[in-house]
Amino acid sequence: MKVFLGYFKGHYHEVVLAPLFKMLEATFELIVPFIVAGIVDNGIKNGDSIYVWKQCALMITLGIIGCLCAIVAQYFSAKAAMAFGTSIRSKLFKHIFTLSFKEIDEVGTDTLITRMIQDINQIQTGVNLTLRLFLRSPFLVVGSLVMTYLIDKRMALVFLLTIVAILLTLYLIMKFTVPTYKRVQKSLDVIGRITKENFTGARVIRAFNKTSSELSDFDIANRTNIKIQKLAAAVSALLNPLTLVLVNIGIIGVLYVGALGVNKGILKQGDVIALLNYMTQLLAALLVLANLIVAMTKAMACYIRVNDVLNIKTEMVDGSGDIKNTGKSGIEFQNVSFSYGGEGEDVLKNLSFNIESGEIFGIIGGTGSGKTTLISLFERFYDPTEGKVLIDGIDAKEYKIDELRKKFALVPQSAVLFKGSILENLEMRQDNPTEKEIMKALEISNSKEFVMKKPRKLNYEVTQGGANLSGGQKQRLTIARALVGKAEYLILDDSTRALDFKTEKELKHNILENKEDKTVIMVSQRVNAINIANRILVLKDGEIVGLGKHEDLVENCSEYREICISQGYIKGDEAND
Ligand code: ADP
Repeated sequence: MKVFLGYFKGHYHEVVLAPLFKMLEATFELIVPFIVAGIVDNGIKNGDSIYVWKQCALMITLGIIGCLCAIVAQYFSAKAAMAFGTSIRSKLFKHIFTLSFKEIDEVGTDTLITRMIQDINQIQTGVNLTLRLFLRSPFLVVGSLVMTYLIDKRMALVFLLTIVAILLTLYLIMKFTVPTYKRVQKSLDVIGRITKENFTGARVIRAFNKTSSELSDFDIANRTNIKIQKLAAAVSALLNPLTLVLVNIGIIGVLYVGALGVNKGILKQGDVIALLNYMTQLLAALLVLANLIVAMTKAMACYIRVNDVLNIKTEMVDGSGDIKNTGKSGIEFQNVSFSYGGEGEDVLKNLSFNIESGEIFGIIGGTGSGKTTLISLFERFYDPTEGKVLIDGIDAKEYKIDELRKKFALVPQSAVLFKGSILENLEMRQDNPTEKEIMKALEISNSKEFVMKKPRKLNYEVTQGGANLSGGQKQRLTIARALVGKAEYLILDDSTRALDFKTEKELKHNILENKEDKTVIMVSQRVNAINIANRILVLKDGEIVGLGKHEDLVENCSEYREICISQGYIKGDEAND
């Protein structure tokens, strides 16, 4: 509860004022039938038109004040609900960044997006309605009952019976609809996933002529969602007719008991009119209460979904940052094994090796051999399941994660760029780099020529995902991005595969020329991409099958020799010589 209320921080006065103003409005609403009764019994009966006009003016005044109160309440509750939504959304956003990739994989990015947007919107709507109606509706129900009791005790019994019957109907209907709404939310997750997959993989889907099958999958997901929504709506739709029937039975009861009362002289005609008014007010209040409970349960279901993510305690605890200079440099793997969890077996198996500071280190292996997984342990995208990764002689877990990641410049396998200018994309590792630094990075990555040809050059606007650049251009810019700002380790994960042979050669030459004292780690399944490495590590199914210089590996490592032969790098008989 403390956490829940904490989301209103800075807006507590609105949380209190919104229901208060709404109660004020409800009080005026409760007074009106009383005035109507007075008009009938005193004004009309005695032909006192001045009294009637005065009371009408009073009713209009109450109406206007009530309306103003409702507007003020609406304003306060909307503000408080927005504040709630904003703070829980930013808390969730920040929290997701603390999660390790393993934890994000487990939850799933699609459901994270649904929770971030739709669930939080639902919570916001729920909070808004609750602030306005949570007190008002019960207040009106109890108020109508009390007013009725004051007019006629027997009539209060008719009201009580009607309330019990309506509440029972509401309970039965909601018992069915609330779990159904939870199913609706889940089916929205599926629609979200399919939409995301289709938008991100649009080219592949079209290229493989899978548009129609994807459309049909989407159609099925949509239909499932409609089916559940229809079911929930059909049952909810029973609410109004059923409650109306009950209220009309109640009205018959009021008229019957009222008529008897008027005949006996216990009740006045105006009282009966006031009682009828209270009965309809009661119905309206109960219906609003029902809708409120539905909105609250939906919001509660969404709040639980958001909280489930917020409650994930990340295993990726930040290190103490108390780093002593060990005098060592380079990377060392000590008996490192890694599994992505679940039912998967170890992707990396008991790896021990070291990368010396300043060397060019190659990692080669077939697809799925664990190359990308291995390099993702350097920067703690994942932690090893067993063993240790030492960076400059210190366990990676002891660094502050930010400090650790500053040491590395990564060029990932997929060239991801962000919407914004080329310059903004290049400034990701370091804020406000000098023009000289930028130009040098562009030159080394062989991107200067094409960037300078673009309209507005460095200010050329990259569209979302870099869609207005070619694959090779994107790849070269991701290399340039890694070269801006000083990093001790440069990791190139298969980052030359979109380049032609000549550009790849030039790029490798440039990196070699300008590497200074950086350690360069090159990952690829092609010998051509890593042939400038001082040493090469050969991975097969997560195990080291060779480590050494190219010539030695050709000589001694059958797997490496096979890779070289299959890629035409050496001839078969040459290797056997
Ligand atoms: P490589 O880079 O050599 O192609 P990866 O390191 O990407 O290989 O993958 C090694 C193995 O780990 C593969 O079998 C792959 O299916 C699995 N894998 C990779 N990423 C994940 C992930 N996020 N969750 C589960 N398994 C994964």
